[in-house]
Amino acid sequence: MTKDDDETPPERRRMVRPPTRGTAAGRGMGQKIKTADRKSLSSQQWIKRQLADPYSERARKEGWRSRAAFKLMEIDDRFHLLRPGVRVIDLGAAPGGWVQVALKRGAASVVGVDLLPVEPIEGATLIEADFTEPGVDRQLLDALGGAPDVVLSDMAHNTIGHRATDHLKIISLIEIAAEFALRTLRPGGAFVTKNFQGGDAHGVLEQLKAGFDQVKPFKPRSSRKDSSEVYLVALGRRRPD
Ligand code: SAM
Repeated sequence: MTKDDDETPPERRRMVRPPTRGTAAGRGMGQKIKTADRKSLSSQQWIKRQLADPYSERARKEGWRSRAAFKLMEIDDRFHLLRPGVRVIDLGAAPGGWVQVALKRGAASVVGVDLLPVEPIEGATLIEADFTEPGVDRQLLDALGGAPDVVLSDMAHNTIGHRATDHLKIISLIEIAAEFALRTLRPGGAFVTKNFQGGDAHGVLEQLKAGFDQVKPFKPRSSRKDSSEVYLVALGRRRPD
């Protein structure tokens, strides 16, 4: 999860490395306690922020699994991707807000994938896997039963705190999602991916511009103002040559 993306509570985020024991090679007890304190502090800050946030409140009241649901609703209100009967693949689906929105707006088939388990959602197939692993793309397509009309990616990784490495990971997830969309979308199809302002996604942007009729940046109102998160919306997949 990047610092700009906090849809997932800290305690649900996937650990990058398993903890070492309190041995000479690993961390001592003192350091372990410090880590635990830091974790509970970030959880407390996350809860405080969620409680003060009107979109989190609305999501709770209206039964959406995440405040991210409002981002996809805004994207769809503007660009009209989710027409009745469409087939949708959702990359980075947990806890399931975008899957709920896609179904609510008439998608005939929705397949989601995430590193984290997602509670079942009627009408969707949810796969717990790392999308970057070989063969997972095939699993998604098999479950969908045909080429997707829409590929969505809200994937965000756990930061490790090293700026350059974190940046490379962000770009790499965008590139992998874009490559999948370009390879699998039916002609006319659409692709949405999370991106970050100031990120170095120029290469992928050029590929998308060549592969789609239109590519637009979009910052939903429900995306936090202090976050550099912005979405790229690519419409009208051109027929590959
Ligand atoms: N759109 C979701 C919703 O509406 O509930 C929120 C998605 S959350 C912002 C980002 C998700 O991307 C996290 O749950 C994370 O586990 C997932 N993710 C990050 N890297 C991934 C990968 N390589 N494969 C699958 N999921 C990944």
